[in-house]
Amino acid sequence: MLRASFLYLSHRRGLQRFVTRQRLTASLAYRFVAGDLLEDAVRAVTDLNRRGWSASLDHLGENVSEEKAARSAADDYLAAFERIATDRLNANVSVKLTQLGLDISSDLCRELLTRIVQRAQQLNNFVRIDMESAAYTQRTLDLVLALHREYPNCGVVLQSYLYRTMDDIERTNADRVRVRLVKGAYDEPASVAFPKKADVDAKFELEMQQLLLNGTDPAIATHDDRLIDATKRFARGHEIGPDRFEFQMLYGIRRDLQDQLLREGYRVRVYVPYGTEWYPYLMRRLAERPANLLFIVRSLIRERRAA
Ligand SMILES: Cc1cc2nc3c(=O)[nH]c(=O)nc-3n(C[C@H](O)[C@H](O)[C@H](O)COP(=O)(O)OP(=O)(O)OC[C@H]3O[C@@H](n4cnc5c(N)ncnc54)[C@H](O)[C@@H]3O)c2cc1C
Repeated sequence: MLRASFLYLSHRRGLQRFVTRQRLTASLAYRFVAGDLLEDAVRAVTDLNRRGWSASLDHLGENVSEEKAARSAADDYLAAFERIATDRLNANVSVKLTQLGLDISSDLCRELLTRIVQRAQQLNNFVRIDMESAAYTQRTLDLVLALHREYPNCGVVLQSYLYRTMDDIERTNADRVRVRLVKGAYDEPASVAFPKKADVDAKFELEMQQLLLNGTDPAIATHDDRLIDATKRFARGHEIGPDRFEFQMLYGIRRDLQDQLLREGYRVRVYVPYGTEWYPYLMRRLAERPANLLFIVRSLIRERRAA
């Protein structure tokens, strides 16, 4: 119920303007977002790298409705790649196709994504295309699979809550496309996605196994202890070394687990969002764990009392 409410709110643009200006929600957002500027993200990644994690930079933004905004988002990603190269950061980039104008025109989106992937290739780097709601799944996969034939330095995200995902994994494995497996963060109808968490988790485990056995450098992206343990067990049982896959987690979530995995010798990449367009991202993080809201309210009250 709460999950659905937060996901509903994530689309309310009017509310976005109001919420973004509130101190309470801004403090909550900065638990999950590195800051407003590329500079803030670079600082966060430098620190993560120093401590052993790699990163994926996400310049927040989605569902842009003007070509100018899509072009400007592409320029921001190109700037991020230049900065990664000059600062020698261990980081790649994650992009959303609706940020690159997919809602405006597929041609525009393809043009901008190609520019980003081309530049990443010249810099010997990699672009991960995030997966958005099911309305975009087929278009995203079609675009990535086509682009990957020319530029193998791009990969995609697949969501275990969708019924179709095992079939999609077969295709991506056959084409050696790098996949990040996630549970899925959008509000989907029962016609396309498992409504029950137990089914999503069970599918995640099976899909993780397929990716570990037959995928190309897969990323297992979850904070779920049980699924992380299942991944480690499966890899050990099939003699798949920690150099053949990586774990991925979100900035600010389960740092204890990120730390533990690193100490155990696994590769861990942290997804680092930055920028001012954090409202829908924050709503999805609240949908995953509504207790986040309580947590921050309590800590603000504590801060105020201490002041
Ligand atoms: C690197 C990365 C990239 C992602 N990219 C995409 C994408 O492209 N498309 C997409 O649809 N989804 C994406 N997601 C989000 C994903 O789909 C899930 O919504 C999210 O990871 C929460 O699910 P979980 O696997 O952690 O499991 P859950 O069962 O939701 O959570 C397991 C445990 O993790 C902790 N936890 C989970 N979420 C939170 C939170 N928000 N705040 C605090 N603690 C939390 C809690 O301790 C919880 O008990 C991404 C996730 C990661 C880690």
